[in-house]
Amino acid sequence: MNMDKSGNFSEWYNGIIKEAELCDLRYNIKGFIVIMPWAMRSINLIYDVYERELQECGHFPAFFPSLVPEKSFLAEKEHVEGFTPEVMWVTEAGGKKLEERYALKPTGETSIYPMYALWVNGLSDLPVKIYQRGWVWRYETKATKPFVRGREFLWIEAHDVFASSGQAKEQVAEDISIAKEVVWRQLGIPFIFFRRPQWDKFAGADDTFAADTLMPDGKVLQIATTHLLGQHFSKAYGIRYMDEKNEMKHAWQTCYGPGISRIYAASVAVHGDSKGMVLPFCIAPAQVVVIPIMRKGNEEKIFDAAKALKQRLAGKMRVELDARDLTPGFKFNHWELRGVPIRIELGERDLASESAVLVTRDDGKKRSVKLSELEGEVAREGAKLDARLKDKSSKLFKSALDSAKSEEEMAEKVNAGKIVEVPFCSEQKDGEGCAKAIKEKYSIDVRGTVCSFFDSEEVALEAKSPKGEKCVHCRKPAKVMMYVSRQY
Ligand SMILES: [Zn+2]
Repeated sequence: MNMDKSGNFSEWYNGIIKEAELCDLRYNIKGFIVIMPWAMRSINLIYDVYERELQECGHFPAFFPSLVPEKSFLAEKEHVEGFTPEVMWVTEAGGKKLEERYALKPTGETSIYPMYALWVNGLSDLPVKIYQRGWVWRYETKATKPFVRGREFLWIEAHDVFASSGQAKEQVAEDISIAKEVVWRQLGIPFIFFRRPQWDKFAGADDTFAADTLMPDGKVLQIATTHLLGQHFSKAYGIRYMDEKNEMKHAWQTCYGPGISRIYAASVAVHGDSKGMVLPFCIAPAQVVVIPIMRKGNEEKIFDAAKALKQRLAGKMRVELDARDLTPGFKFNHWELRGVPIRIELGERDLASESAVLVTRDDGKKRSVKLSELEGEVAREGAKLDARLKDKSSKLFKSALDSAKSEEEMAEKVNAGKIVEVPFCSEQKDGEGCAKAIKEKYSIDVRGTVCSFFDSEEVALEAKSPKGEKCVHCRKPAKVMMYVSRQY
């Protein structure tokens, strides 16, 4: 496989998915895919990293059922209106029509909050910080794309309950910093956390904050959201606590949804190159692949040494030995395509000098390393590879940020794959008309303002003032600077 990612990203991405066996699209329901082991192993590693961070910030895991009784589903009006078009219902069971139908949850609020109403009674029950690793169903009408958009997708949802709105806001800031730790620092995927305009917030929320990363085709991909739910759901579901004055108060809530399959899609798309995937060290199913370079007559000796090396490394890292009866060149391609960060070649001459050849996936550099020093070298080279990936991705991301003052300039820059800052009339409901007009005319989406809790280390974002500027569309005085782009 040798393809230009930026030339035709979609073809590149579909090629990788097929060639590297990430998923099988032949399952016979539209929008439902089978995720294959090479992808699922990485996805599970992303879950592990994310959950570790959530737990360090005081969250605990739980499991809530997938089916939601219709009555519970209908409790919060705005939420129902927002999600109803995408809900799939279970209407029959055991050969009989159900008296009450059940929603397959499109998101967990309606299955979780009736339980929180039972669990929260007094101040001592707060805060609640619980998350679930799982999947949800949304009957998408937009074109589906593996790991990017499907009718069933993998994510984490954290649902937190507090005694004050201030604590809820602090939680949103914590959610954003967790995303930064995992998605940027560990996976090297740059993003901006936007505050979505009021017309584009989560159904039932006061405010929605969302992380957008940039895919190689110039479209942004939303990879995580966190919402200030205010008291909408606590009022709808009766989540109340007794305060110090013995008064019953409605709680303040937040919910946080890192899209795990989308974060995986971004890792594949952002870091990959013309040879295939390049996986960050911490989510590679195999961090190292050992390839014996055998010649006629030395097979047994080299194989035994490679096997011993694999066993030695196995307790300290994720390592695979490729002992198949295939040429080294074939194996190199196989593992390069799958993005294994480090390859170790072991041949006759290496063995004689008690060394091996270590090759890093991203730059293809080869170095001879003493066998006795391999563990340390692998860890060092893995960290350096991650640093190079971050350096490359953040440079690309930065180069895609731009600004425009007129609609034409905006369209031209977005067409060139940029995320463009423009003066805009309003982020309140009254700005929706301009957003719709831009969407209709240019297929450009308004993403929002840079979230004030988001202190970016991968991109320096200077807050520009809208003062004296005019809305790119209606030319009324601008009240806000907004970012626009194409989106997935
Ligand atoms: Zn306007």
